[in-house]
Amino acid sequence: MSSTIPDRSRLKRIPDRASYEPADVHAILDEAPICHVGFQVGSQPFVIPTIHARMGNEVILHGAKASRLLKHAATGAPLTIAVTLLDALVLARSVFHHSMNYRSAVIFGTGRLLEGDEKMEGMRAVSEHLLAGRWDDARGPSKKEFNATSVIAVSIDEATCKSRSGPPGDEEEDYALPVWAGLLPLQQVWGPPEADPGRHADVDLPDYLKDHA
Ligand SMILES: Cc1cc2nc3c(=O)[nH]c(=O)nc-3n(C[C@H](O)[C@H](O)[C@H](O)COP(=O)(O)OP(=O)(O)OC[C@H]3O[C@@H](n4cnc5c(N)ncnc54)[C@H](O)[C@@H]3O)c2cc1C
Repeated sequence: MSSTIPDRSRLKRIPDRASYEPADVHAILDEAPICHVGFQVGSQPFVIPTIHARMGNEVILHGAKASRLLKHAATGAPLTIAVTLLDALVLARSVFHHSMNYRSAVIFGTGRLLEGDEKMEGMRAVSEHLLAGRWDDARGPSKKEFNATSVIAVSIDEATCKSRSGPPGDEEEDYALPVWAGLLPLQQVWGPPEADPGRHADVDLPDYLKDHA
């Protein structure tokens, strides 16, 4: 299977940690709150963190019209998107074998500027990715806000997932060492909502926030 994967996206380092399945790529994109977008202007590579969403097999990026990232992406120039979910610290008996459990994806694609209804759909997707239910509750974009925003859809042309799970892998002779070893799991949990003191007096916490874990 991996022989059909293009060289630039074929995992060489620990290839058995790879998946090229679109469903795995989509799952990582859907769970991660942010991504990092890499692009090159002249001889200078840039990597910019940003909010994203997924619509089908495209990654949606949005932001101010003046954003260099978005202006560059709109030209159809090549982009690389990295998405990382951190699951645990892996504490080995040797310093060398310390690691992390994670699920990550690296995506190659090109952007296209969305307009009209598709642009509004992209804006909705980003809002819903942040917090499902918010789009229908909050005031929608005014004409001025809509026009001041760029929305880009990046095609997922090639994508690789890499993941590590499970306990540390130490050298055989190190298992006898009196050193604690194992996992330190990381759970990212949103805290309880903190109401804005200036909010409308008649507004209760919406259900989608009450249910939000
Ligand atoms: C949270 C986290 C921490 C990490 N810490 C380290 C570290 O400290 N040291 C270290 O050496 N490596 C670390 N890695 C693994 C690292 O991301 C690379 O996979 C590894 O360094 C091999 O790089 P390479 O350029 O030789 O990859 P290659 O195997 O040559 O990569 C070939 C192609 O595979 C894809 N690819 C590579 N890495 C990933 C990835 N992580 N996810 C999805 N696709 C990928 C890309 O398309 C890339 O072009 C970490 C990964 C994560 C997610």
